[in-house]
Amino acid sequence: MNLSERQKKIIEIVQKCQPITGNDIADKLGYTKPTLRPDLSFLTRSGILSAKPNVGYILNQVSTESEYSASIFHKKVKDVKSSAVYIEEECSIHNAIVKIFLKDAGTIFVVDKNGYLSGVVSRKDFLKSIMGKMDIHNVPVGVIMTRMPNIITTNDDETILQAAIKIMDHKIDSMPVVEYAGNNLYKITGKISKTNISQVFVEMGKNSGK
Ligand code: ADP
Repeated sequence: MNLSERQKKIIEIVQKCQPITGNDIADKLGYTKPTLRPDLSFLTRSGILSAKPNVGYILNQVSTESEYSASIFHKKVKDVKSSAVYIEEECSIHNAIVKIFLKDAGTIFVVDKNGYLSGVVSRKDFLKSIMGKMDIHNVPVGVIMTRMPNIITTNDDETILQAAIKIMDHKIDSMPVVEYAGNNLYKITGKISKTNISQVFVEMGKNSGK
């Protein structure tokens, strides 16, 4: 979240002087209260400050900007997703394995002729096909993939926490981020993996200086 310089100053003042009224914040900053009203309203709506009637503004538990913007409860899938590697169902298992190496991916998503999500293939799926001595040059990847509607997906507006819970519950490494296109069809707009989620923790740690 991008806070303006003025909003950051308001947070600092509330942190030092809470509870503090809107008028007192305005005095300290040298503005009138109506000038600050949009900032105060933004900061309360976004959960950084609470406005207590007849008392004043206080800082909520997740308080500083860096803590707030790094908060795992605040971050959305769209903030941390990365680009998805995908391939068409008709491609051979061999070509899918080559793509996994070229793109340095762990899981590959599969799309139908119209570009809609149709499946997922993981490293273990590939290993199984090789152990089972499949003709990987001729058998299409569609034969070994986990197929829709059994694909666990996420979307831009889910929180990272919701996405992480799905990944843990279903014991998978990654999920496609999708957009519903009607008629039970989904377009892939990215992916969320254990790596993306670990990255959020790393950023949280760095931002909090720990
Ligand atoms: P790996 O096989 O490398 O350990 P996963 O744990 O992600 O990777 O995959 C385990 C199984 O779950 C595979 O058979 C794979 O096809 C399937 N799978 C992977 N991702 C998903 C997903 N998002 N939805 C449904 N099934 C999945």
